[in-house]
Amino acid sequence: MDQLDIFTLVLLLVDIGFLAGALYFSFESIREKERRAPKMGLGLALIALIIGILLVVMPSCRVFFAVFFSFVIAFALSLALKRSKDPRALKGANGHLVGAAERPDERDIPFARQRSLPPGSEYYQRYYKMHPEKEEPDRRRREKGLLGAPGRIDNQYPPNVSMIHAAFDIPEFLGHYAVADPEHASMPSKVDPVKATEIVKNYALHLGAVAVGICRVNPNWVYSHRGEIFYDKWEDWGKEIDPAQLPPYAVVMLTEMDWDHVSSAPHTPSVAESARNYGRGAYLSTHLARWFAHLGYKAVAQNTRHYDMALPPLAVDAGLGEIGRLGYLIAPRFGARVRIFATLTDMPLIPDSPISIGVDEFCKKCKKCAESCPSKSIPMGDKIVHRGALKWKINEDSCFEYWSKVGTDCSICMAVCPFSRPNTLLHKVVRWFVGNSQIAQKYFPYIDNILYGRKWRPKPVPSWIDYRN
Ligand code: SF4
Ligand code: SF4
Repeated sequence: MDQLDIFTLVLLLVDIGFLAGALYFSFESIREKERRAPKMGLGLALIALIIGILLVVMPSCRVFFAVFFSFVIAFALSLALKRSKDPRALKGANGHLVGAAERPDERDIPFARQRSLPPGSEYYQRYYKMHPEKEEPDRRRREKGLLGAPGRIDNQYPPNVSMIHAAFDIPEFLGHYAVADPEHASMPSKVDPVKATEIVKNYALHLGAVAVGICRVNPNWVYSHRGEIFYDKWEDWGKEIDPAQLPPYAVVMLTEMDWDHVSSAPHTPSVAESARNYGRGAYLSTHLARWFAHLGYKAVAQNTRHYDMALPPLAVDAGLGEIGRLGYLIAPRFGARVRIFATLTDMPLIPDSPISIGVDEFCKKCKKCAESCPSKSIPMGDKIVHRGALKWKINEDSCFEYWSKVGTDCSICMAVCPFSRPNTLLHKVVRWFVGNSQIAQKYFPYIDNILYGRKWRPKPVPSWIDYRN
């Protein structure tokens, strides 16, 4: 075989690599029920096929394709070799502070205003005296209900709507046990913190969490005042929460929202899946709280029936991800398709370090969630300073307005986010580049838009949750 033949063979091998990559991309995109991406993949495969034929029958074009392939390979190598991490992300949620942090007030949270301000009550009077501008919009939303008519977008399809109610019954049952006091009057069991950390993380994974991290509780994220009241504990409304009274360590857990369900957003399978995860989170956090109590330690479960703090920054501090433009945590393997729960404890544990996965830079260019949001609640522009931290500030009121219109928790932003795609080899490779290369963070959002399109359209669901029945 002469020199030219080896040259052509190498070019053909590279071309076959592109062809295989394009076909694999198409195959995965079909499995993910994408509409545009499989066609783009087949188009790229066709181009690779034509190049292969030209390489064989037109020797004059070989140099041209050699230069072209060299550029593509050099680009990929430059992404892989010039690695960098976001220094702010590596500092955790505090890394985004630009001034003194102002603690969130649970009384301001739309859920609390909806559920825990009965008209005519003293709490109602006290709250709207502080925030008169919120009274009228809140009154209108209260009349409609948080989800309006649950499942309205799907004609309140009973099997799916009942899944929502069934799953939310679980935190309702378990919420009584959120605070777990030590079971033993004697000293707590002594376990080396390294060993305790190993046990608690594996135990949480064994119980059903998909990711677990540990951090110290940062007082900045603890609610200043109690605002959500369950089980008629009205005496707690408006009470100041002293961070020093909380156990100092947090075991933060993620549960995964199923891709098939989420990709139906804003239809009922997605809200049924949210509800299922709130049920799982209540089980996980309460179960772990009981475990700490039986070891002789104090523990407090953080789930939808008891929160002492905002959980997304806690998850960031525990090394579980970064916050995206859409306001949700974006986790390495699952993107925004996660729900966060935690158990606080005074058992000494070893904290994890925050991570950088390239979310901040990627979100600056991507904006897909903001473009797809039906209520325009996600900002298209830059971050603003909110309570001392730089962040993309979601308009929660207009978001919840949309929820009450469709009767679900929408979740379009979660579904459309490129980080949320299933954790297949294809997306693992892309995530690795995005997590390590500033060039990938800048240019991959454009490539993503070309391959997948910009706008969200719900995908078909398995027949057992098909709301079109
Ligand atoms: S849940 Fe829906 S309405 Fe709310 S921010 Fe996300 S996309 Fe917008
Ligand atoms: S859709 Fe894009 S802009 Fe929105 S959170 Fe995901 S990556 Fe960021």
